[in-house]
Amino acid sequence: MEFVAATNNAGKLKEIERILTRAGHTCKSLQEINLEVDVEENGASFAENACIKAREICRLCGKPTIADDSGLEVDFLNGEPGIFTARYCGVHGNDEANNDKLLQNLQGVPKQQRGARFVSAVCVYLPGGRYLTAMGACNGYIGFERRGTNGFGYDPIFYPTYVGTPGITCWGEGVFSNTEDKSYAELSAEQKDAISHRAAAMQALSRELDGFLTDESRRSVVLPFCAAHVNGK
Ligand code: IMP
Repeated sequence: MEFVAATNNAGKLKEIERILTRAGHTCKSLQEINLEVDVEENGASFAENACIKAREICRLCGKPTIADDSGLEVDFLNGEPGIFTARYCGVHGNDEANNDKLLQNLQGVPKQQRGARFVSAVCVYLPGGRYLTAMGACNGYIGFERRGTNGFGYDPIFYPTYVGTPGITCWGEGVFSNTEDKSYAELSAEQKDAISHRAAAMQALSRELDGFLTDESRRSVVLPFCAAHVNGK
């Protein structure tokens, strides 16, 4: 199926595109359909915000739409920045300032207390109002410094507990402990997609998608959280 990806974030778009492609779907960006819009994210959870974005873009373009809402929950900060991750520094989408603020707020905090998880809620919204939402997470910690140049956003300061094996592209396959202490930004696309919060959510979504598309009695489905489990453990 072809989806419109409801995001203006180039990094996110790239990941959604490559994960969807692997699952046999295609996607068009907002730019490709000439839609210039910023949807206000005023929901109280990642799942609500994903649905708000997907619903609004679907309403505007009349096509099946996919949206992701994601963010970081840091233990020492009692789950902050959470749904405010994109505007943590006060300005929406300023990655450098967001990373600076998070490192600043964790200054002097030892590694054992820097636990965090990345969360993603992904919503497919269909013309007519039916929608399917799935959620995924990736555990790790916030490092003491930026490392790596791949990816986007908070990638240089998020150190996942597990990483994928290069060359293995399926979520949950070829996963092992992050013994080299690599940040998300030091992983290849395949290594990140094997363990990332977004890939976990997309995996859960694609498992349900075909059944959802064909069963019109299912109006709004929100799947249970899909934590980043590893090799069946
Ligand atoms: P939103 O989902 O558009 O509200 O923004 C999510 C925020 O989390 C932005 O600041 C993103 O840069 C950040 N973010 C989401 N996913 C990732 C990721 O995979 N790596 C790094 N940062 C991410």
